[in-house]
Amino acid sequence: MNTPESPTPVDCSGGASLFERLAQTDHEQVIVAQNRETGLRGFLAIHDTTIGPAFGGVRIRPYANDTEALEDALRLSRAMTYKASLAGLPCGGGKTVLIEHPGLRREAAFESFGALVESLGGRYFCARDVGIQDADLTAMARATRFVARDPAPGLGDVSEHTAIGVWHSLRACLEAAEIRGKVRVAIQGVGSVGAKLAQILARAGMELLVADALEERAATVARETHARVLPAEEIAFSEAEVFAPCALGGVLSARTIPRLRCRVVCGCANNMLATQEDGDALSDRGILYAPDYLANAGGLIRGADYFVLGRLDSGPSLARIYDRTLEVIATARAQGISTARAADGLAAARLKPRKLFRDLAWRGELHPPVLTPFA
Ligand code: NAD
Repeated sequence: MNTPESPTPVDCSGGASLFERLAQTDHEQVIVAQNRETGLRGFLAIHDTTIGPAFGGVRIRPYANDTEALEDALRLSRAMTYKASLAGLPCGGGKTVLIEHPGLRREAAFESFGALVESLGGRYFCARDVGIQDADLTAMARATRFVARDPAPGLGDVSEHTAIGVWHSLRACLEAAEIRGKVRVAIQGVGSVGAKLAQILARAGMELLVADALEERAATVARETHARVLPAEEIAFSEAEVFAPCALGGVLSARTIPRLRCRVVCGCANNMLATQEDGDALSDRGILYAPDYLANAGGLIRGADYFVLGRLDSGPSLARIYDRTLEVIATARAQGISTARAADGLAAARLKPRKLFRDLAWRGELHPPVLTPFA
């Protein structure tokens, strides 16, 4: 049994040391979150704060080993930076991955993690992610100001904002692909976001096919939206103009792409593409793909609007996902590249350190001016 006294040995991929692995990444900072008394173990990865403080959830689950947890933190924090950048938000990306294990004293561990977040003085702002319970947020909030407590008055349902964002991205895709008239959408996963997306699409007059690993959930949504239920293993390959992955990552792969029958892929699932090349494969097949981190940015946009910018209404911010999607598609077409690569390019361009006064102030790089005499 793992206890705080018998930690799992660090085992970085391919035998590389922790620091050799980190030297291969472009992360600004990776912090080992560790506390012997509480059993706290994990990684807090701050990917990029060029534009503003790193935003990103805290997740906890029983990782198979330390490497898996570290890789998750590195990958997800980077994705947050790109998501925030493409959405035009004044923040960067971060992520915390905590390891659930039998020796964890949960409440005390989360409070000590809160103290770690507080010590960063606002460079990292966190919220709920996979595995986090209300009590964990409460424990963290005792030690830090930089955690988003939900529900918060006026914040609203974040997953609903995500669904609205997907709708705006989908509208842009339909327009760009010149798909008019009756549109059929196949939704894979009708959980928090997928069910709300189904409601929005049904109100817009679309015909729906739905599937969920939990059959009862699919049946309920189908009743409410006049959708037809399909088996979970068939939904991706059903005959529909749009495939909307709203469950798992990795659904677009060399195994699935040749079998797709849709013209557009647009949903809320994170990390839909198994590899970057799968984005190229979609484009080669003439399937228009709305980059996942663009289409599903609505929840993050709501968080930034509410917690940072003090906006009560995120309607106009969410609607910008429509313009951004059209911009990505236009860039992809102009450059002859996939929409996935076009999105990465646009997001990365915004991260190039800008030497504006404001940026220098944020990064704590203000130096006395060097006065060079004129030659
Ligand atoms: P959720 O857990 O509420 O819903 C996921 C649904 O998918 C569940 O009903 C589950 O039963 C179903 N499912 C799981 N495996 C399936 C399979 N093989 N086939 C069909 N259905 C399956 O999660 P959610 O909050 O709706 O998020 C869905 C996805 O969107 C996740 O990838 C999440 O990371 C991403 N996302 C969510 C938000 C948000 O605001 N909640 C924001 C951005 C991205």
